[in-house]
This record gives sequence, C-alpha cells and structure tokens, in this order.
Amino acid sequence: MPHHRTDDLDELIACPVCDALYHARMPETGERVTCSRCHHVLIAPKEGAFLRVIALALTVMILMLGATFFPFLSIDAQGFSNAASVFDSALAFTDGGWMVALSFATAALIVLIPVLRAALVIYVLGPLAFGRKPWPGARAAFRWSEDLRPWSMAEIFVIGVAVALVKVSDLARVDYGPAFFMFAALVVVIVLQDGSMCRWTIWKTLEDKKSS
Ligand SMILES: [Zn+2]
Repeated sequence: MPHHRTDDLDELIACPVCDALYHARMPETGERVTCSRCHHVLIAPKEGAFLRVIALALTVMILMLGATFFPFLSIDAQGFSNAASVFDSALAFTDGGWMVALSFATAALIVLIPVLRAALVIYVLGPLAFGRKPWPGARAAFRWSEDLRPWSMAEIFVIGVAVALVKVSDLARVDYGPAFFMFAALVVVIVLQDGSMCRWTIWKTLEDKKSS
C-alpha cells in the first residue's frame, strides 16, 4: 500500500489504469506497491532485474540480426521456388519512387526501432546494474526508449505475416525459414523484457544516482 504524505511533489505517482494519485516510496526488494483502488501493480522492484532486462535486450539484438538476414520463408508454386530474408525484401523495392520510402519505413518499424530500443535500455541500465552513476544522457535515452515503444512493430509484423501466409498457402507451398522462428521468439523476448522493467524503479534510480 503506498504511503500517504502531502509534501514532496516529486514522489507523486499516478495509477496508469485508474489515475488514482499516491505518494510513492521505494519498497523493499521483492515487495510490490499496488493501487488500492484497482490493484494495478505500480512499483515492483525485483532482485537482479536490471541485469535480467539487459540480458533480454541483448537477446533481442542478436535474434533481430538473425531474423533480418536468415531466410524468412520460401515459396514453391508451379515449379518456381523463391526464398527471401527480410533484408532481401527491404531491398526488393529499389526501382524508385515512394516504394523505396515505404520499404525503408517498414524496415525501420520492424527491425531498427526494436534494436534501437534494446540499445537504449542497455545504455541506461548498464551502469545502474553495477551500482555505477548513469552515463550522460541516460534520462533522455530512457525517455526516448519509452516514447518509441508504440512504434516498435516486430509483433505486429509476425501477426501480419501469419495472416498473409494463411491466404497464400492456398496458392503455393510455403516453408518457414529460420528467421520466421527467430521473429516468433523475438515477440516473446520483447514482451518478457517490457514485463521485467519496473519503470518507476528505473526513473528513481536514475534520479538518486545522478547526484551521488
Ligand atoms: Zn488504479
């Protein structure tokens, strides 16, 4: 249960679900602070959470490398066979015009933004995980990573592909390449990473370590 006090505006925390306002304090490790109105978890610091988030962010970057360059799928139809990676597909639209812009934007949403977010999280949490002072610009980097969250579309890409493949499978034989399974794994890892990040704890640690 959050602490009720009336001083210190910095320590205010609003429930993202029901907007109830609380004065927050750092709970003991393993303890969690929940909204007393709707029971949404507000603060949940976990032992070793920063290191776990860093490990998951590294996993995102490595998986994304494979998911981009390994064959994504191969299609067989009437004797013709074609295998392509996501990278090949992004380069396929080089004949000019707005298709180039479209393929670049698609590649950015699917590949670059999730990788950028992972890199920002590692930059922010790296020093904190070892009890050091944050690196310069860590607050801006974390803000940026949070702002980019809705634009990270690896998950939506996987769902889109699944729907498209159901349609295509009537016309041609479709085989999934290793990159397809890497994308599927990415979706799980990104969800795990976002789930193990207690944002309040990260902001609070950035604030406390800044002056020390
Ligand atoms: Zn609430």
